[in-house]
Amino acid sequence: MSILVTGGAGYVGSHCVAALHAAGEDVVVLDDLLRGHRAAVNPKIRLYAGSLNDPVYVGDMFRRERIEAVFHLASLSLVGESMKKPGRYFLNNVAGAVNLLEVMCTHGCPPIIFSSTAAVYGHPTTTPIREDALKRPTSPYGESKLMVENVLKWYDAAYGLRHVALRYFNVAGAAPGGEIGEDHRPETHLIPIVLRAAREKTPVKVFGTDYQTPDGTCVRDYIHIEDLIGAHLATLRYLRDGGASDVFNIGLGHGFSVREIIEAARRVTGADIPAEAEPRRPGDPAELVASTEKAERVLGWKPEHLTPDEIIASAWRWHRGHSEGY
Ligand code: UDP
Repeated sequence: MSILVTGGAGYVGSHCVAALHAAGEDVVVLDDLLRGHRAAVNPKIRLYAGSLNDPVYVGDMFRRERIEAVFHLASLSLVGESMKKPGRYFLNNVAGAVNLLEVMCTHGCPPIIFSSTAAVYGHPTTTPIREDALKRPTSPYGESKLMVENVLKWYDAAYGLRHVALRYFNVAGAAPGGEIGEDHRPETHLIPIVLRAAREKTPVKVFGTDYQTPDGTCVRDYIHIEDLIGAHLATLRYLRDGGASDVFNIGLGHGFSVREIIEAARRVTGADIPAEAEPRRPGDPAELVASTEKAERVLGWKPEHLTPDEIIASAWRWHRGHSEGY
């Protein structure tokens, strides 16, 4: 039996595939390679280069493989792009997921682990954010993920599809070997942008310095990719042990400001990294910090990398070795 990872050539997907493979699992990847990278997947792993919007292709793959569980990580994930092209997000993220579920439910309905996001919460009213907090996404991206979470519940009701949604907070860093890492085009995330600034000796734009936070810049919960993947493996164990459908926040449980991240990157890289104050980026909440109590209690998972320096050091190894990405 095999584990399917959709989006397995993407940033989180490639780390998930590598960890499953290292754990001795038989892994199959489905990725349309529009934003994923073939080079991010070990050539020993079966890679189906196709789209979830092509249900015939997905059906053929399920007929050839015996899929025991699915990690559904394939999605578009740029908040700004989703504001301008909402249809692309609903077609790709929502319709693509429904196509996948339809095929899954004609092939034994294997359990599914779905990559969701803290963006489902929108502007949170409480911190740290618990899973049962109000969900009011402020972008089509966040909305598309919340819609899929809701769709999953109806498949559970109709077909008994067991599912776990993992709501990622700010994922960063790279595998310790430095052979796979984050390569988004365009890059919009803070840590890779700060590291590019360290390499190219250009300034970082700090979006908003007048938030109601200790230093006026936005606070986010940065989780090391290795810890995030640890949560995925714990979720697979949970589902294999018969665990019921559920949803978990996956973060560190502590926040760091934009200025603290730049400071940490200066420590790690030894570069000056000049910072320039810019206006706020539309839609950015002041603070997003996870309550990880439920994941720790139910999944028995706990993050191990507790400082931004550890995350940044691993990302720095990858970026220095791959200045042009893959
Ligand atoms: N940010 C910034 N400059 C950049 C990129 C990001 O100041 O060049 C800020 C952004 O406004 C947010 C934080 O860094 O407050 C994290 O942004 P990112 O895009 O990495 O993740 P998000 O929290 O938006 O998912």
